[in-house]
Amino acid sequence: MIPAETTGGKRVTLCLGCRAPLYLRVLESAGGYYIGYRCARCGPQGRESDYYNTRLEAQDAMDKRDFGRETQFNGRHYKHLGNSWE
Ligand SMILES: [Zn+2]
Repeated sequence: MIPAETTGGKRVTLCLGCRAPLYLRVLESAGGYYIGYRCARCGPQGRESDYYNTRLEAQDAMDKRDFGRETQFNGRHYKHLGNSWE
């Protein structure tokens, strides 16, 4: 399974630990604010954007669906683009 898969036209992913459905939200880490997935039980499950200096910038990018990053998972290269949702 890749970190974010499209299910029923809505961008969700399943927690790798407990299989709960996760939705994109603004998250905070030591590196800054970012858009990604986090399970309430299992912790962070993936980052879908680059880092932002403020929560507002990250929220704004998520609202406009104007974010993305390249990521590597299990040795394969994936490109996520937030504005290609839905
Ligand atoms: Zn979980």
